[in-house]
Amino acid sequence: MKILLCASEVVPFVKTGGLADVAGALPLVLEGLGEEIIIALPRYKAIQEPKFKIQRLSADISFSLIGRKVKVYFIENDQYFNRDGLYGDKNGDYQDNLDRFTYYARRSLDLLKEINFKPDIIHVHDWQAALIPVYLKTLYRNDKFYKDIRTVLTIHNIGYQGLFPQDEFPKLGLDWSLFNMENLEFYNQVNILKGGMVFADIVNTVSTTYSKEIQTQEFGFGLEGILSKRKSDVFGVLNGLDYTIWNPETDKLIAKNYSAANPKAKSLDKEDLQKICGLPIKKEIPLFGIVSRLAEQKGFDILAEGIERICKMDLQLVILGTGDLKYHLILGDIVKKFPQVISLHLKFDDTLAHKIYAGSDIFLMPSKYEPCGLGQMISLRYGTIPLVFKTGGLADTVDEGNGFVFDQYNQEELIKTVKKASRAFKNANKWSKLIQKAMGCNFSWETSARKYIQLYEKAKSK
Ligand code: ADP
Repeated sequence: MKILLCASEVVPFVKTGGLADVAGALPLVLEGLGEEIIIALPRYKAIQEPKFKIQRLSADISFSLIGRKVKVYFIENDQYFNRDGLYGDKNGDYQDNLDRFTYYARRSLDLLKEINFKPDIIHVHDWQAALIPVYLKTLYRNDKFYKDIRTVLTIHNIGYQGLFPQDEFPKLGLDWSLFNMENLEFYNQVNILKGGMVFADIVNTVSTTYSKEIQTQEFGFGLEGILSKRKSDVFGVLNGLDYTIWNPETDKLIAKNYSAANPKAKSLDKEDLQKICGLPIKKEIPLFGIVSRLAEQKGFDILAEGIERICKMDLQLVILGTGDLKYHLILGDIVKKFPQVISLHLKFDDTLAHKIYAGSDIFLMPSKYEPCGLGQMISLRYGTIPLVFKTGGLADTVDEGNGFVFDQYNQEELIKTVKKASRAFKNANKWSKLIQKAMGCNFSWETSARKYIQLYEKAKSK
């Protein structure tokens, strides 16, 4: 099959979140499975020689290679993309985001003709690429070249929809008849993700549970109606984990390597982490770890409510994250009160993240909602037992067999579960069995990539 993948961030070029991981990893696995795949990405300022090997195709298109020979085409336009940020700066979103991603969508489609690559499928991700399915079925519909192309839209987080004022609608070049409730209008605004959801042949999200949750009012952010309408075309495919990066046997960033067959050295990683964090070096106390954006979505509202009670328990807690100022302040205060219990790192730090995944006993991830989530999958691989709220991708990857789960989102339930996990930790025999279970879980990309191929086939038959 021939596939074009369109995403606004792709590892190793640019990354602000999990989308980049998916867009960078999935094509390589698809290539390995025999598919012919190319990628189109805006050429942001960060994409430069010599960091990347870049070749020129034409005046405004360059390209680079990833994997064996996956071509990543860069859409160049200095006015739109030659900036430090991807979507905005310290003042918020860029004012011209609609112009920028409209340009990206159209230029990606036009590029196909120029390089004479006629894909069976265009796999678009999130609102930034969601205009492509819209254009294929409107502005490009009478062009023979594009006639047979089918689309799959992957939604990584339905909270981000690409909303713009109504008076920006003409920038899309679409007929005003599409500005209505059935198409791109959303309470008098333009909603780009909604457009993609209406026009894509197949829509999916990044876990089965989340694909169902977003069809409800509680999780749908106002788009549950359109999703329910398209129910038979909506699917969930769990993201995979890149085990070449996340593997305690080979991880160069942790103090000691270990494996499921020989997990003993994990205790040395715990010691290392305690040392780095200035916490008392004690084997017998459960060490909880958090690596996360500090945001309400990640459970920091109930965590902030309960943190003082948690700190009074016989445990230790290491937190690595950045995000809402509110949580920076709350956590900063708590550290002053309990310096022997909690260690706080308000930054983005890949090395420390690896050390936390390896050195903690329990990984705390009480997200209020979670489309897929990587943290729990990483921690399982490192034999660090996840404690999660039962939602989205967390519900699909963690259960009582490999972790601790609470199913009512409130402070009391969180604390109860922290206590339960701490008690379980004291039973060394049971705990090592739990570690074995966790480390035996497999969320490899190959399984997920095969599911995407099935979705592509479904789209093709439309
Ligand atoms: P998100 O909703 O933020 O994309 P995910 O769980 O899907 O959440 O992925 C977050 C990824 O970013 C994980 O790999 C996690 O380890 C990493 N991460 C989050 N915050 C930090 C941080 N402060 N420092 C280092 N890595 C981080």
